[in-house]
Amino acid sequence: MIYDVIVLGGGPAGITAAIYGKRAGLDILVIDESPKSGGQILTTYEVDNYPGLPKIGGMEIGEKFREHADMLGAEFAVGRVSSIEKEDEIFLLRTRKEVFRTRTVIIATGAGHRALGAPGESEHMGMGVSYCATCDGAFYKDKVTAIVGGGNVALEDALFLARTSKRVYLIHRRDEFRGDKVLADQVRATENITLVLDSVVESINGQMKVESIDVKNVKTEEMLNIAVDGVFIAVGITPNTERIAGLPERNEQGYIVAGEDCETNIPGIFAAGDVRTKQLRQVITSASDGANAIFSVQRYLNTQKSKG
Ligand code: NAP
Repeated sequence: MIYDVIVLGGGPAGITAAIYGKRAGLDILVIDESPKSGGQILTTYEVDNYPGLPKIGGMEIGEKFREHADMLGAEFAVGRVSSIEKEDEIFLLRTRKEVFRTRTVIIATGAGHRALGAPGESEHMGMGVSYCATCDGAFYKDKVTAIVGGGNVALEDALFLARTSKRVYLIHRRDEFRGDKVLADQVRATENITLVLDSVVESINGQMKVESIDVKNVKTEEMLNIAVDGVFIAVGITPNTERIAGLPERNEQGYIVAGEDCETNIPGIFAAGDVRTKQLRQVITSASDGANAIFSVQRYLNTQKSKG
């Protein structure tokens, strides 16, 4: 079987591509490492900026997206594509068990968490260091937690943790947040969140599990030791482009270079969602990419047809 388009990744970009692709009558397959669709939103407690769905749970919006694609008959496969090769005009996508054939590819593999790189971080992974507050926050009920970062994820996670933790220290390297003002205002108004601004984590300490963090004020150089039971790291994301051979051109951070039309430097390969170079990475801009990518796929397929 040769598909018209295979989408790598079942997050908001991939699912939207599946919806638009099915509606355009394309033979489309979505391959994701996880059987659950949604990508990063699955680890988001609440999404409050997707029109028409205020305060929807991350898991719930992922399920709704998938239901919509299923309703239209989109095909899904679980697997990890390790390479993309071109043979004549057909792309071969290899997973451990299979080789898939397709006329076009949409890469929508998204992004994952970035490590802080502090001493003690990797040693305490799973022993008090976590990158997902919604996944692991429940382990810290009535305990003291710290969250590192100043973007939307750090702000949302601080609010999430504050519901159950006794106290949450929010440690950010500047005195202004990168995340949305509405979230920053909520954080400032939450009694059991303590802001530790202009500060960086120098080390994560503990014998078997995390016991404290050393924090340095970057303006005064003053050191602070804060006793904590858990540290959540939310210092940004990095594109999931590391483990696939044959990808199109990427920038120095690893994002696939593509504009709003999602076209890459390899004709027939498109990039959509968080994995491509873009200004704003949100559920809605990923969904928008999924639609644009299918439009570009159709244009490409029509050009190929008229050539043949
Ligand atoms: P982000 O917006 O890139 O923020 C990363 C934060 O970590 C920044 O505040 C940054 O500080 C800090 N940081 C980076 N490296 C650091 C280091 N080595 N040491 C200390 N601090 C460091 O990342 P994010 O919060 O993970 O969000 C990722 C993307 O998802 C963003 O585009 C975000 O808008 C989007 N998102 C949106 C929503 C929403 O709309 N509700 C929710 C979640 C995520 P500086 O500010 O000083 O650079």
